[in-house]
Amino acid sequence: MKPLDVVVIGGGMVGLSAALMAARQGLQVALVEAHLPKPWRQESPDLRVVALALDNQTLIESFGLWPEVLARRAYPYGAMTVFDAVHSRPLRFDAGELGRPHLGHILENDVLVDVLWQAVVREPNIHLHCPDKIVSLDETESEVRIGLQSGVEWSARLAIGADGAASRVRDLLGIGVDERDYGQKGVVAFVSTELDHQNTAWQRFLDTGPLAFLPFGNHCCSIVWSLPNTEADRLLQTGPEAFCHALDSAFAGTLGKTRLVSDRAAFPLRRRLAKTMIQGRTLLLGDAAHAVHPLAGQGVNLGLRDVSALREAFTVARLKTGDALDAPQLARWARTRYSENTVAAMAFENINRVFSNDNMALSLLRGHALGIGDRIIPLKNAMARYAAGL
Ligand SMILES: Cc1cc2nc3c(=O)[nH]c(=O)nc-3n(C[C@H](O)[C@H](O)[C@H](O)COP(=O)(O)OP(=O)(O)OC[C@H]3O[C@@H](n4cnc5c(N)ncnc54)[C@H](O)[C@@H]3O)c2cc1C
Repeated sequence: MKPLDVVVIGGGMVGLSAALMAARQGLQVALVEAHLPKPWRQESPDLRVVALALDNQTLIESFGLWPEVLARRAYPYGAMTVFDAVHSRPLRFDAGELGRPHLGHILENDVLVDVLWQAVVREPNIHLHCPDKIVSLDETESEVRIGLQSGVEWSARLAIGADGAASRVRDLLGIGVDERDYGQKGVVAFVSTELDHQNTAWQRFLDTGPLAFLPFGNHCCSIVWSLPNTEADRLLQTGPEAFCHALDSAFAGTLGKTRLVSDRAAFPLRRRLAKTMIQGRTLLLGDAAHAVHPLAGQGVNLGLRDVSALREAFTVARLKTGDALDAPQLARWARTRYSENTVAAMAFENINRVFSNDNMALSLLRGHALGIGDRIIPLKNAMARYAAGL
């Protein structure tokens, strides 16, 4: 059988984007996904939401899919406000200060997966294998041989592992992981708010962890509340009123009284960094390479940036050598993305450590940091540009 160009393992947001990107470059692609995706349902929003940065909106636009995202559901946010439990002066970023109408959109994981999935199904250059799982991966000098649970086997010039934080591809390659369990869970839910959220993404740092309110329609927010495991478990078990009472107190009533309008769920918070993003002719992308603390809403954004950077690497390689999958260019991609993702993961971890702490010295330090950050406009704009992906 003629070898494929690229096999992508994992059809989450990152794997679907990578498959689509490679196919649109004229490459022959196979995509393997373990589960049929849950179709997006308007009446029951997915609790897992993404604060999609502007550069990643551009990626989705480049596939011609942004109108389909907007037709389902996405809410723009024009500002971000960061404050803590001790100091009164918040740090506020406004899209207007960057000359933009907004800083990004809040959208459901299921919306993006659904839109990307439909596009992959329509794409003639993609052979879809779902439900199926990778069970073996062997490298030869010029190819990767992939075996699936169904018995199907392929050879490809490049394999992409985008199979999430518990990546099987990473394990099959024996790539080690630098892991840190934060002993926290992210509690997610939708709440209605008494006061208008002003299309602002709010983040309050508490000594137990950050609490985010992300605007999701009229007087409605998606919350991501990082809490120590036992506290998260306790709050998942309490009645809706007791939950909202605790939430209002943790958020200092900033948006008035809240009311729970969905189920609640929680996900464990860990940093997991693969020791490398490339081995032979296999790349790791997205959570398979780097799962980070969700405090800056950058988890998915980093993974989609891996995809945009890979498109650039394919383009440069083709211009220089005539081969989009030129090995030195892929190695350069891996080095650059590895250092950017590691710096980001450690920065989120350190921010969490400094801000989610009741130590007096750290409390003074963060008070100064918020005050200084808000007054020094170039610094503030640089932070806002990073978060918005500009
Ligand atoms: C409840 C929850 C809430 C979250 N909230 C936020 C948030 O607010 N902000 C944020 O930035 N991030 C958040 N995250 C993290 C974010 O969802 C991830 O960063 C993002 O989904 C990573 O995308 P991915 O495509 O790399 O991996 P995934 O979305 O994990 O996709 C991996 C895919 O690979 C498939 N797969 C796995 N194993 C195999 C195999 N052996 N063979 C074939 N296919 C396989 C899986 O079925 C899955 O479809 C949250 C995560 C969870 C679980």
